[in-house]
Amino acid sequence: MNDISPTHPRYHSLLLRDKMAQAYQEGILADTALIAHGRGEAFDYILGEKTNPPANKAIEAATAALLLAKNPVLSVNGNTAVLAGEDMVNLANLIQAKVEINLFYRTPQRVMKVQEVLESAGATEVLGKEDDDYLPLEGLKGPRSRAHPNGVHQADVVLVPLEDGDRAEALVALDKKVITIDLNPLSRTAQKSSITIVDNLVRALPLMMAEVKKLKGCYREDLEKIVNEFDNAENIHNTLDLISQHFKRDERL
Ligand code: ATP
Ligand code: MG
Repeated sequence: MNDISPTHPRYHSLLLRDKMAQAYQEGILADTALIAHGRGEAFDYILGEKTNPPANKAIEAATAALLLAKNPVLSVNGNTAVLAGEDMVNLANLIQAKVEINLFYRTPQRVMKVQEVLESAGATEVLGKEDDDYLPLEGLKGPRSRAHPNGVHQADVVLVPLEDGDRAEALVALDKKVITIDLNPLSRTAQKSSITIVDNLVRALPLMMAEVKKLKGCYREDLEKIVNEFDNAENIHNTLDLISQHFKRDERL
């Protein structure tokens, strides 16, 4: 690990960058994962490296949708496993969701390493392992189409952080409620998903867990109201407004 001083103004971001670089060297991540991370870093910088009000609103709606779900599934790719594997497992255990590995640049070695991360974080059931069955998702080809018959295929609500745009679109077309966490409000994933949390994964997941604890005792009707009143397009628009204000004022949000 590089010697990063905690007094550095961007200490947390640099720690994450270091984690990613190390995971790449250990073979968990493909080189393109680092590029995706860099794009995320750029948007996070513009957003002030903090959770903004539209993200909080999306977190509330996403959590309500997960609590209402019959078959919630949390999908984990390489970046998610490295940055927030433990939080994904904790969230899954809190809401009794399944966890499914979804790697685009899939190799047996990477799958095993991600599985290791998830199981050592306490995951009871991990789907999408190397020898698991899978059924292609309608409308997709190749590694993007891979989904477990008892996992993403059966799910009514899926949490897919840092998802590929085509796949997000295919999941929505299959009538699933698609929740994503993506720092780029303009990505296809952000635009196509049902609920888009424009925030860093490492900040959003602990907030979702706190929200689960807050909403757990609510009546179904109250949770439904939260989900129905949430307007994803409007919420993304509000995020873009924040970004443009930031550029106009030429100061941190
Ligand atoms: P799309 O097909 O959705 O348009 P993309 O090509 O923009 O995808 P991908 O490479 O599929 O992007 O996925 C990376 C996305 O994840 C980027 O939009 C990036 O901003 C976002 N991202 C990267 N790191 C994080 C993070 N830590 N938290 C949240 N989002 C992140
Ligand atoms: Mg994407």
